[in-house]
Amino acid sequence: MRCPECGKELQSNYNFCPSCGIALDKNEQFKQIVDDSFTKLEEVVRGDAMLRLESLSSRLDSMEEELELFLTSAPVNK
Ligand SMILES: [Zn+2]
Repeated sequence: MRCPECGKELQSNYNFCPSCGIALDKNEQFKQIVDDSFTKLEEVVRGDAMLRLESLSSRLDSMEEELELFLTSAPVNK
Protein backbone atom coordinates (compact mmCIF):
# COMPACT_ATOMS: atom_id res chain seq x y z
CA MET A 1 0.00 0.00 0.00
CA ARG A 2 0.96 3.64 -0.26
CA CYS A 3 0.95 6.32 2.41
CA PRO A 4 -2.12 8.49 1.73
CA GLU A 5 -0.14 11.52 2.84
CA CYS A 6 3.25 11.29 1.13
CA GLY A 7 2.63 8.46 -1.32
CA LYS A 8 5.56 6.36 -0.11
CA GLU A 9 5.23 2.60 -0.60
CA LEU A 10 4.74 0.97 2.83
CA GLN A 11 4.48 -2.43 4.44
CA SER A 12 0.81 -2.95 5.27
CA ASN A 13 1.50 -3.64 8.96
CA TYR A 14 2.79 -0.15 9.77
CA ASN A 15 0.68 1.96 12.11
CA PHE A 16 2.64 5.09 11.25
CA CYS A 17 4.28 6.14 8.02
CA PRO A 18 8.06 6.04 8.67
CA SER A 19 8.53 8.70 6.03
CA CYS A 20 6.11 11.47 7.06
CA GLY A 21 4.92 10.13 10.45
CA ILE A 22 1.21 10.21 9.72
CA ALA A 23 -0.93 7.70 11.62
CA LEU A 24 -2.24 5.09 9.20
CA ASP A 25 -5.93 4.36 9.55
CA LYS A 26 -6.61 0.63 9.32
CA ASN A 27 -9.85 1.31 7.45
CA GLU A 28 -7.92 3.44 4.99
CA GLN A 29 -5.38 0.63 4.62
CA PHE A 30 -8.14 -1.86 3.93
CA LYS A 31 -9.71 0.47 1.40
CA GLN A 32 -6.35 0.86 -0.33
CA ILE A 33 -5.80 -2.89 -0.44
CA VAL A 34 -9.25 -3.32 -2.00
CA ASP A 35 -8.53 -0.50 -4.45
CA ASP A 36 -5.20 -2.07 -5.37
CA SER A 37 -6.85 -5.44 -5.93
CA PHE A 38 -9.49 -3.93 -8.19
CA THR A 39 -6.86 -2.03 -10.13
CA LYS A 40 -4.90 -5.24 -10.68
CA LEU A 41 -8.07 -7.10 -11.64
CA GLU A 42 -8.95 -4.37 -14.15
CA GLU A 43 -5.47 -4.61 -15.62
CA VAL A 44 -5.84 -8.36 -16.03
CA VAL A 45 -9.29 -8.01 -17.61
CA ARG A 46 -8.06 -5.27 -19.92
CA GLY A 47 -5.01 -7.35 -20.89
CA ASP A 48 -7.25 -10.31 -21.64
CA ALA A 49 -9.57 -8.15 -23.75
CA MET A 50 -6.59 -6.85 -25.70
CA LEU A 51 -5.39 -10.39 -26.37
CA ARG A 52 -8.85 -11.38 -27.61
CA LEU A 53 -8.99 -8.32 -29.84
CA GLU A 54 -5.56 -9.12 -31.25
CA SER A 55 -6.49 -12.71 -32.07
CA LEU A 56 -9.81 -11.56 -33.55
CA SER A 57 -7.98 -8.98 -35.61
CA SER A 58 -5.51 -11.55 -36.95
CA ARG A 59 -8.38 -13.94 -37.74
CA LEU A 60 -10.10 -11.16 -39.67
CA ASP A 61 -6.88 -10.48 -41.53
CA SER A 62 -6.56 -14.08 -42.66
CA MET A 63 -10.25 -14.16 -43.61
CA GLU A 64 -9.71 -11.05 -45.69
CA GLU A 65 -6.76 -12.70 -47.41
CA GLU A 66 -8.81 -15.80 -48.18
CA LEU A 67 -11.70 -13.73 -49.47
CA GLU A 68 -9.36 -11.75 -51.68
CA LEU A 69 -7.81 -14.96 -52.97
CA PHE A 70 -11.28 -16.36 -53.66
CA LEU A 71 -12.42 -13.21 -55.47
CA THR A 72 -9.31 -12.93 -57.63
CA SER A 73 -9.35 -16.63 -58.54
CA ALA A 74 -13.11 -16.88 -59.12
CA PRO A 75 -14.06 -17.49 -62.74
CA VAL A 76 -15.69 -14.48 -64.34
CA ASN A 77 -19.07 -15.26 -65.91
CA LYS A 78 -19.89 -13.28 -68.98
ZN1 LIG B 1 3.82 9.18 4.56
